[in-house]
Amino acid sequence: MTAQIIDGKAIAEQIRREVGEGVAELLAAGKPKPGLATVLVGERPDSAQYVRTKQKTCAELGMESFGYHLEATATQEEVESLVRQLNADPAVNGILVQLPLPSHLDEESVLRQISLEKDVDGFHPINIGRLAQKGRDPLFVPCTPMGCIVILKKMGVKLEGANAVVLGRSNIVGMPVALLLVRENATVTICHSRSQDLPGIVRRADVLIAAVGRARMVKGDWVKPGAVVIDVGINQIEDPTHPKGRRMVGDVDFDQVKEVAGAITPVPGGVGPMTIALLMQNTLRAAKIAQGLV
Ligand code: NDP
Repeated sequence: MTAQIIDGKAIAEQIRREVGEGVAELLAAGKPKPGLATVLVGERPDSAQYVRTKQKTCAELGMESFGYHLEATATQEEVESLVRQLNADPAVNGILVQLPLPSHLDEESVLRQISLEKDVDGFHPINIGRLAQKGRDPLFVPCTPMGCIVILKKMGVKLEGANAVVLGRSNIVGMPVALLLVRENATVTICHSRSQDLPGIVRRADVLIAAVGRARMVKGDWVKPGAVVIDVGINQIEDPTHPKGRRMVGDVDFDQVKEVAGAITPVPGGVGPMTIALLMQNTLRAAKIAQGLV
């Protein structure tokens, strides 16, 4: 069997188009541009690149972006007082604190300062808590995990009653995606670095989400024939045949798994583009919340 290759770029493009139209409608109604504030602390090149891409996408979709860059030595109070200032700024609808923060900072305390209505990354402890509770709804859902679910739904994958396996339990991807799958009535197994017999567990999955940050860890003989495989991993490997000497791969051995799975997301071009598209969707929603429109 050769898997259907899921075009995350195309799905993300459709969402971006819809968000652009939503922004245009707001502007036509005389409302201000939705605004996203990004807070970058320190000099991590990957974080700086993510922030630049988010700002560029805001501009493409007609939104305002406000970039704040603090030094790696910024104190807890400096970061938190910036967040409070952004909470009070009516031009700012969404606040994104780029993670990870430098290790001397208390991440949870910073995230707790973000006003719930501006928590477009969905990482405020109250939003995450609501995600975990039956009958409660968060105001915002984290973008990468939601990206996985949107892809599965667009592909028409039946989640109710499905055996879903999530590799990884991070606050950013693994745990929230597992919570979302439970909300979709899947039966969810969460694996991590202490799990025993990963291949055996993964082989039972109708739906597999891989978010471990280990290049090509999931092999073809781990996967149940016909399973749907969502690869969140972003890993750089050396490749002398590539112009840059390295290239990006996922947590799944794509070449092997595509011969077994029913459908699979590629890396790049799978989950990655969804993350920013859904951040933009959340920012538009935050602007509508601020305008009393939702
Ligand atoms: P973390 O490092 O925070 O978490 C990794 C998780 O994988 C942990 O729960 C860890 O277990 C588990 N793990 C690590 N090694 C193994 C192993 N050998 N066997 C089983 N479990 C293991 O990573 P993130 O969740 O932040 O990111 C995961 C991947 O997704 C990365 O490649 C990252 O770059 C990518 N990513 C992609 C995004 C996108 O937009 N597409 C956005 C965010 C992340 P334990 O808890 O026991 O340590």
